[in-house]
Amino acid sequence: MTAHLRQEAIRRISSSSERGKQSRNIQTTATDRLPETFGLYVFGDAVQRDRLPADVYTTLRRVIETGARLDPSIANEVARAMKDWAISHGATHYTHWFQPMTGSTAEKHDSFLEPTPQGGAVLKFSGKQLVQGEPDASSFPSGGLRATFEARGYTAWDPTSPAFIRKGPGGATLTIPTAFCSWTGDALDKKTPLLRSCQAVSQAAVRLLHLIGDTAVHSVHPQTGAEQEYFLIDREFFKLRPDLIACNRTLFGAPPYKGQEFDDHYFGNISTRVLTFMQDLERELWLLGVPVKTRHNEVAPSQFELAPIYQSISVAVDQNMLTMEVIKEVAARHGLAAILHEKPFAGLNGSGKHVNYSLGTNTGQNLFEPGTTPHENLKFVLFLTAFLRGVDLHQDLLRASIASAGNDHRLGANEAPPAIISVFLGTQLEQVVEALMEGREQSRVPGQTLRLGVNALPELPRDISDRNRTSPMAFTGNKFEFRAVGSNQSAAYPCTFLNLLLADSLDYLSDRIEAHGGFSEQVVQEVVSECLRTHKRIMFSGDNYTAEWRAEAERRGLLNRRTTPEALADWASEANIALYERYGVFTRNEAESRFHVQNEIYANKIKVEATAAVDMAETIVLPAAYQYQSRMAESIDRVRGLLGKEAGAGQLTELTNLCQRIEQVQQAIEQVRATKRAIAQRGLHEAELAKAYCTDLVPSMARLREAVDSLELWVDDDLWPLPKYREMLFIH
Ligand code: ADP
Ligand code: MG
Repeated sequence: MTAHLRQEAIRRISSSSERGKQSRNIQTTATDRLPETFGLYVFGDAVQRDRLPADVYTTLRRVIETGARLDPSIANEVARAMKDWAISHGATHYTHWFQPMTGSTAEKHDSFLEPTPQGGAVLKFSGKQLVQGEPDASSFPSGGLRATFEARGYTAWDPTSPAFIRKGPGGATLTIPTAFCSWTGDALDKKTPLLRSCQAVSQAAVRLLHLIGDTAVHSVHPQTGAEQEYFLIDREFFKLRPDLIACNRTLFGAPPYKGQEFDDHYFGNISTRVLTFMQDLERELWLLGVPVKTRHNEVAPSQFELAPIYQSISVAVDQNMLTMEVIKEVAARHGLAAILHEKPFAGLNGSGKHVNYSLGTNTGQNLFEPGTTPHENLKFVLFLTAFLRGVDLHQDLLRASIASAGNDHRLGANEAPPAIISVFLGTQLEQVVEALMEGREQSRVPGQTLRLGVNALPELPRDISDRNRTSPMAFTGNKFEFRAVGSNQSAAYPCTFLNLLLADSLDYLSDRIEAHGGFSEQVVQEVVSECLRTHKRIMFSGDNYTAEWRAEAERRGLLNRRTTPEALADWASEANIALYERYGVFTRNEAESRFHVQNEIYANKIKVEATAAVDMAETIVLPAAYQYQSRMAESIDRVRGLLGKEAGAGQLTELTNLCQRIEQVQQAIEQVRATKRAIAQRGLHEAELAKAYCTDLVPSMARLREAVDSLELWVDDDLWPLPKYREMLFIH
């Protein structure tokens, strides 16, 4: 790799962006067509009603809305309708789309084609093919489930998330969201536990609601809207960075002259090129039924965000996975590379995925909505209390659900929520909680006193103005926003654990109310007050970025698990396994397998990064430095030839400095190598290996990075082969 490729890339990008500015040819979807095209590629309610016999349609809707078992006899009808509809959109293939434990999605395509005995062919798709698939599961991580069980797995149609069409340049594919299990029934994916946890929280919520007299509710649905952050850089730069290609983040790169200190990117004017990309992206997502609503520039240069309107969790989690894929594809069409890693550029803001979470009832209420009547408020307070208790008791699970090598760069750095889990409620709500805890009447809000079930809560502002951007979990009016989730992570585990911890705490409250002899306002007041007093340490409204908070959190006994191996530690603890089993979310085997897989993924990521860093330093960085070294040596020789032996002293000092920096890189390379070798010799497995990488290898990679970045500032610009931060982030 030579420096001239980098310069050529800059030239090409600059000239094509000039051309782009001249033409300013922005296409927009005609606004009057948007309602028709929204969800055009989705086998959703309207198409189902249109294409299915009335009785089949009714049965299917019941399955979707209540999670009832699918009657196999309707599967053939649904499959036929789905196939005809898909073919009308140009589909030739179908695929069972699933979410293995790798964290991404997987698909294997089958064509509808079936040969006839006469030598011709017909297009076929049976109910059996719709309901169940059998991909070869042997190459997906199973975290030990494979050691004891049969390797094969099967995919099972998830009717709660609608099938859709994925168009490619050469045809279309009917894509069917599925769960992925082993033949022994173990979940091999992220979807199955999520669906189970939805059932668990629904049952627990309905139980509590019935207990307090809300008998009209028979199901409760967790709902989510996931805000997605990402970076965009020109594809030419991306292709010249082996680290971005292999690791999705830059392993080296000196800081740009100007980063985000002017706050001039956040909510700034969106450049024409990016806006054109966003419009194209939105059109595509709308066709796929993803209700994308907002778009804006984020804090770091070249960082952006989109957010959809919230939906039921299973659909929202699927659609977020799809959104991440579509972002990358559309970016490529625009000559851009979308980077979803949590920390692609050191020293600049990382990317998160804010998972907004609430519970909706079949009667259309949001259980985290403060409400306007005393009874609604009593309900709200109960659900709020359950949430606080759940987060406090299961900080470890929430922290584990967002642990990854990528997210380690964000959590704990002073730009994102810290690794300590706490809940921000806002001043007003915190006053309410305090009043409830003390069992006294709320007096601080003028004209208001608080007695549950009798009074309305003081009105809470919808758009809480003192909203805290530093909190990992913030109450934002009628939902909780889990802000510590990483941009590249599936929302499945965070949502699974939120559901689970709520199920557990809602049941706890029901148990307590029953133990007090059943529902009365007085009983609720007592139960809530006691529970809040026990768990008040989880509430924090101050600045979560400060050292004072870390010290305070430690005093409060809150967990602070800074790295992935630490954060994963209790994923499969006995207490947690008992909790999973009580709610049927994971079996012991499933929990243990996930513990292994998460550690394995972490270890593999670090290993690839270490390999790439050493290789790049040795084969790309050092050769450029050697070139500069000899250029300088020659130049000193020439100067001395002309001016005598003592001349060129300044240059000589510079050369000496350069040589020192080169040596530092060489030593750092050796250190990474030696560390890797030493760890390999210990023959460790998953969790232990992850720990060793984290404590030994990660710091040695950081030293290598420091040495390389300092070299970047010395070597002649025209010799440096890797696109620089100031170019990738600022030249579009
Ligand atoms: P902000 O950046 O201020 O947090 P956004 O509009 O970017 O706000 O994102 C808010 C997200 O929260 C959207 O995805 C939105 O659909 C989602 N949301 C709004 N209300 C709820 C709710 N009741 N339950 C779950 N998600 C919600
Ligand atoms: Mg937000």
